[in-house]
Amino acid sequence: MDASSIRPFRIGGTWRGNASDAPHTIVSINPADGSIAATIARATSNDVDEAVALAWDAFRNKPWRKLRPDQRATTLYEIGRRLSAERESLAHLQMIDSGKPLKECLNMVDSAAGHFRYYAAVCETWQNEVTSPRGEYFSMALAEPFGVVACITPWNSPIMNEAQKAAPALAAGNAVLIKPSEETPQLALELARICLEAGLPEGLMTALPGYGEDVGAALVKHPGVRMISFTGGTDTGRTIGAIAGQRLIPVGLELGGKSPHIVFEDADFDRAVAGVMSGIFGSAGQSCVAGSRLFVQKSIYARFIKSLVEKTRALRVGLPDDPDVQMGPLISKAHRERVAGYVDLARQEGGNVLVGGAPPTDPRLQNGWFYMPTIIDGLSNNARVCQEEIFGPVLIAIPFEDEADVIAQGNDTVFGLAAGMWTSDYARAWRVARELDAGSVWINTYKQSHIATPFGGFKDSGIGREKGLHGLRLYSQIKSVYFGMHEKPMGL
Ligand code: NDP
Repeated sequence: MDASSIRPFRIGGTWRGNASDAPHTIVSINPADGSIAATIARATSNDVDEAVALAWDAFRNKPWRKLRPDQRATTLYEIGRRLSAERESLAHLQMIDSGKPLKECLNMVDSAAGHFRYYAAVCETWQNEVTSPRGEYFSMALAEPFGVVACITPWNSPIMNEAQKAAPALAAGNAVLIKPSEETPQLALELARICLEAGLPEGLMTALPGYGEDVGAALVKHPGVRMISFTGGTDTGRTIGAIAGQRLIPVGLELGGKSPHIVFEDADFDRAVAGVMSGIFGSAGQSCVAGSRLFVQKSIYARFIKSLVEKTRALRVGLPDDPDVQMGPLISKAHRERVAGYVDLARQEGGNVLVGGAPPTDPRLQNGWFYMPTIIDGLSNNARVCQEEIFGPVLIAIPFEDEADVIAQGNDTVFGLAAGMWTSDYARAWRVARELDAGSVWINTYKQSHIATPFGGFKDSGIGREKGLHGLRLYSQIKSVYFGMHEKPMGL
């Protein structure tokens, strides 16, 4: 489809968005060169009522919720298979929507396919609980779906974020409405198409490309939405969580981070340098788990920073389709201005910009929203740039004295999403890992993610856990069922 024709979306068997709806569109811009990646018909809050009603109809009347879990697994496997079969084209679409290097996009599609396969396997093996009798009855705890679940996703990991929510929500028997980020609307539409083609009944999975304050807000407030799963910024998460609280519906919130990345003096030096770089500069720092606060033990601080700066200067920033490129652009002009604003703030706060701190000068990159990988030191952990999520390729380096000092500084943040450390002393790694306020802790590695391992945040980084069996539980509510086995009539 050419980028100027309007790509429609689908609600319950009918396509929405044609020439007559032209004012309601979203234009997705390719962050690498500023060209139009796609023009998408935009859902509005008026579409939400209809989408919710059709989702309930599908939930109640189509064969899904009442299928045995192993029967649902067949469709989930097929969705995973089709995602893998379309790996190259989906990754390419994601690359032009998000600006991520192609190799990262391929990994995201693989991860999305893996989520569907994993939750298919969970369906095959999932067991409800039988509770031991404590009277003349037999009792069990059943996992039941909520009905219609709204999933709202950000722009930084399209298709992976959507699959991380849709796969377990569907596996649990729910109908799903996805509102992708307005910056990257295309992959959610692709996922909805693939689900349908794989045999998921119409209405069980609908993508609504629209604005957060319009479609997103309408979904969150809609009385027919019985559970909300949100990934995005902490402020938005707080707003959504407050509404869910008022409505007394469950909510899963995967929010921002300002993760400490710690290097002890006994670390494997070169591995630690490489790990720190991949922790912050992967995805151009647009990662919720980016290791954006670097703590290096004082005894090796100067040597470590020197090596880190040299290697960072040599990073290849470039167009996402170049296979050798290590860092692509930021998502938008506005986001690059935000990141640059934080670097200016760091300078005003007294920080030293050791490398980066500006867009690239390469003439081939001038139409895109690139920003050079940046390392700043000379600030304390209290500086605003150490406390606020920048969500870009900006690393703040701080020396520390000892274990107690780095635990105190590492935890001195409102966030608690992730943390990492490099040390050859596993007893210390264990001690420090237990003390850090973080939903994930990486030891001698960073930013690894396993479909079966739960993911989520402490403190202002969120509520609930995605992935693994916890991911399925998030989208289920427990119903206890008792079967009387009385020998005699019940007495009072
Ligand atoms: P936002 O919070 O701005 O937006 C996330 C999603 O929410 C978008 O789809 C957005 O729509 C929508 N939205 C915005 N306002 C509302 C509202 N009032 N009601 C309902 N929906 C709304 O985050 P970004 O898209 O900018 O993503 C970056 C943030 O996401 C970072 O803070 C990052 O840390 C976090 N994140 C967390 C992850 C985790 O797993 N913990 C993973 C990835 C990112 P629209 O696009 O139209 O504004």
